[in-house]
Amino acid sequence: MFDYLIVGAGFAGSVLAERLASQLDKRVLIIDKRPHIAGNAFDHYNEDGILVHKYGPHIFHTNSKEVFDYLSQFTAWRPYEHRVLASVDGQLVPMPINLDTINKLYGLSLTSFEVDDFFKSVAEEVSTVRTSEDVVVSKVGRELYEKFFRNYTRKQWGMDPSELDKSVTSRVPVRINRDDRYFTDTFQAMPLHGYTSMFEKLLAHPNIKIMLNTDYHEIIDVIPFREMIYTGPVDEYFDFRFGKLPYRSLEFKHETLDAPVYLPAAVVNYPNEHAYTRITEFKYLTGQQHSKTSVVYEYPQAAGDPYYPVPRPENAAIYNQYKKLAEATLGVHFVGRLATYKYYNMDQVVAQALTLFKKLTGQEEVLPVLEDVLVGQNGHRLKLNGMGLHTGTKGSSRTA
Ligand code: FAD
Ligand code: UDP
Repeated sequence: MFDYLIVGAGFAGSVLAERLASQLDKRVLIIDKRPHIAGNAFDHYNEDGILVHKYGPHIFHTNSKEVFDYLSQFTAWRPYEHRVLASVDGQLVPMPINLDTINKLYGLSLTSFEVDDFFKSVAEEVSTVRTSEDVVVSKVGRELYEKFFRNYTRKQWGMDPSELDKSVTSRVPVRINRDDRYFTDTFQAMPLHGYTSMFEKLLAHPNIKIMLNTDYHEIIDVIPFREMIYTGPVDEYFDFRFGKLPYRSLEFKHETLDAPVYLPAAVVNYPNEHAYTRITEFKYLTGQQHSKTSVVYEYPQAAGDPYYPVPRPENAAIYNQYKKLAEATLGVHFVGRLATYKYYNMDQVVAQALTLFKKLTGQEEVLPVLEDVLVGQNGHRLKLNGMGLHTGTKGSSRTA
């Protein structure tokens, strides 16, 4: 009998497995349908011995000391500040747009004050900033929007920025100084030995059993457990009863080149050319020394593994229906980027998992056996074998 079945061995699932095992002495079974731990953060040495991120570039950054300190128990770090260039009008210029971007693009030598005035002069007035188009045109005007954002976003999301929530392009700031870092968070670093190695340490507790290549449907009726933590797509859990939630996918084309360096920066974005959005060269991220170099191209697509929730009002409305159902589902906790349909970075998922852990810690009351009501919303019975169920009095994880 496991105390917890955790579906998904990415950040959400692995952090909870670690906390539950090490702090509450719970017996945890963590499973993943993929053949590896670490979810989308999985990295590995490719056949040439270069450390690459299988599911695209993952750069760790956070303003949360709590998250950074927590992960620091499981990894040493390599300080790393990410920089990106965008290929626009035949030039490679800093992205996010900053003072140097404007000067290089237009052959000017403006000061910070002047570029601020320039942005104000071209900015469009938008009464309520709602969409990803509004965000950009209200800051830097239509021309820069079209050069840097419109086509990249269309490629990445398969829809126009005017159809996407403002939160999407708001991720990328605009600067009037020369700061060319992609992120400005307090903590910016890469796990010194990679993400997978950090996950191995997270999951190295004797109370944690790991089962890979396993979809939870395969084991849910045969392995007894008390509660479930689910980190897969929320619509899938409920058999799509309110319709499919759109997730954007990507195809990753990995390539190794027989040269020590390929790109002039870790990432080059291609807003207006090519079917791919960006190329990443991993050695910038990892600091690895090697005579060859490995890069990945990202080709956005609708079908395939679910990587990005698509932030727009229609989808939020569908998600809210699933959310209500999730909250009413006894003994199952939904956490992570797919299960809560949130465009979260890694640190936000860690924070969300730590928050759920605190909630679970405050909910140690043992309820009587509730076999009758324990038919999960997806039709699977949550087997208790008369052991009683740990769940809460507040919140509403019990089905009506
Ligand atoms: P996941 O990592 O997706 O883990 C969920 C796991 O559940 C998966 O391994 C999946 O196989 C498993 N699963 C699903 N269904 C089932 C099932 N039925 N049975 C068994 N297992 C199942 N964040 C950053 O902070 N910085 C970055 O630079 C960054 N870059 C990114 C680049 C790309 C291309 C992508 C796609 C994401 C990026 N992210 C980045 C976001 C980051 O990947 C996520 O925040 C984080 O991995 C989410 O963790 P998670 O545990 O919620 O989900
Ligand atoms: N974006 C863009 N042009 C760029 C970089 C980003 O239009 O050169 C937009 C695009 O919609 C993208 C969003 O800003 O999806 C967020 O960018 P970020 O780099 O944070 O995306 P992620 O790394 O999560 O794929």
